[in-house]
Amino acid sequence: MAKKNVDKLQVFALGGVGEIGKNMYCIQYGNDIVVVDSGLKFPEEDMLGVDIVIPDISYLIENRDKVRAILLTHGHEDHIGGLPYVLRQLNVPVYGTKLTLGLVEGKLKEAGLLGETKRILIDANSELSLGSIKATFFRTNHSIPDSVGIVLETPEGVVVHTGDFKFDQTPVNGQYADLHQMAEIGKKGVLLLLSDSTNAERPGYTGSEKSVGAELVDVFRRAKQRVVVATFASNVHRIQQVIDAAEANHRKVTVVGRSMVNVVSIASELGYLRIPEGMLIEPEEINKMAADRVVILSTGSQGEPMSALTRMARNTHRKVEILPGDTVVISATPIPGNEKYVGRTVDELFRLGAHVIYGPGSVSGVHVSGHGSQEELKLMLNLMRPRYFMPIHGEYRMLRQHGKLAESVGIEPEDIFLTDNGDILEVQNGVARKSGKVQAGNILIDGLGIGDVGNIVLRDRKLLSQDGILVVVVTLSKQEKTILSGPDIISRGFVYVRESEGLLDESSRIVTSTLTKLMSENVNEWASLKTHVKEALGRFLYEQTRRRPMILPIIMEV
Ligand SMILES: [Zn+2]
Ligand SMILES: [Zn+2]
Repeated sequence: MAKKNVDKLQVFALGGVGEIGKNMYCIQYGNDIVVVDSGLKFPEEDMLGVDIVIPDISYLIENRDKVRAILLTHGHEDHIGGLPYVLRQLNVPVYGTKLTLGLVEGKLKEAGLLGETKRILIDANSELSLGSIKATFFRTNHSIPDSVGIVLETPEGVVVHTGDFKFDQTPVNGQYADLHQMAEIGKKGVLLLLSDSTNAERPGYTGSEKSVGAELVDVFRRAKQRVVVATFASNVHRIQQVIDAAEANHRKVTVVGRSMVNVVSIASELGYLRIPEGMLIEPEEINKMAADRVVILSTGSQGEPMSALTRMARNTHRKVEILPGDTVVISATPIPGNEKYVGRTVDELFRLGAHVIYGPGSVSGVHVSGHGSQEELKLMLNLMRPRYFMPIHGEYRMLRQHGKLAESVGIEPEDIFLTDNGDILEVQNGVARKSGKVQAGNILIDGLGIGDVGNIVLRDRKLLSQDGILVVVVTLSKQEKTILSGPDIISRGFVYVRESEGLLDESSRIVTSTLTKLMSENVNEWASLKTHVKEALGRFLYEQTRRRPMILPIIMEV
């Protein structure tokens, strides 16, 4: 009988399960915590005015002396975007591959954190000792170069985190997935597998990135005029294929959009992009060239309001104008929630007379996903043959489907753990069970404020956005129990003032009579005066308009 472990292994997500975005997973053994990824999420529709969302890291802050490292799987925003905010509160060493660290450094420089953050370069052969946890890595395919999966050896057993992955038999840039090593890891024994669930609902295999390259060459050849290609700035493979297709068709490439310019410069500097001499031209030069010699590589594949493509579609881009007969390729799938923005951009482009290639990659041929479909997820499960399985990186239904796939390859249902953010999966002496919760949730970032926008602020913003605001200003004399001036009523976003004089006059009368009555009854505490004004006015306005504007009484006393 093996010796019994006193400590236990605890695994939990602070972000990334039950959602797409803000990935952050923690593996704790005794007094050692290793964090995998530190991502952000873009706000939901009801998070008005919020710029980005990051995980609640209270648990890590409370246990700061135990946190040994943040290991990064790859350079996508949903894995590294939260770092500047997290590192400000928790200064721990960050480990990543070359391109990942390159992208992280750009962010840290902007946040003024580059100097104080310990950054350690790793590759697929690195071995790290992080307290009682040993970390090694394996190469995977994904829609950004230099992606790795992580193997964490703990005294309790081996935990494997796949990172985001697919299996691409013909990858661009020779970025192959190391199947041999994955099989080797599985052979040695995996206690717990955490695996990417993004495409768990999709049958079959995800197409190879190479197929997009062939399609792009074709599209560029057929185009009689300029070609605009919009894609994710981080999709370095795709950018390479746009450059290759341009070269094959004797076209030059200009790059527009801040993040695209940024990634092209970092990736080519680090050797992840092969750009022939003289291939890149400045946006100003395109008007001097024949239209069929030009490719414009742009941001805006998600229809983001301020992006380069959206501005071109609205004819407000300073340097690039879309002309009838130009071809626009949207080489991406909308992230759920962005469909209507993309749709609007496509509409505008069609109105300008452009030929637009868009829609699901399976139809348009100009996009493939970076995440493995069902058969590839099963392949990962079969390579790793884990004792326990925890699907990650997906909304609940995706985790659920991934669980079903695991059952289909022979993992017992009771060995599959679907968790919410914060749920602790605990393993001690080989036995796994869900055991309690750590604090987890959304921290909303609006401008410079981290976490100062909570439910109350959001509720107010929602109210304001729905029915507007009415401010009532009145000055009272406490001694004489009279109204000295006002009530003045100011409204925004509620009714069109010039056509609502009657309504506002009547509102003013209601405020006057409410206050006069209260004062005659010797009610003069601020709070109750305000509440009564709000109630009386709210009732009247709802009767008249069926709207509930926010009512803000400002009562001054002299
Ligand atoms: Zn990714
Ligand atoms: Zn991801």
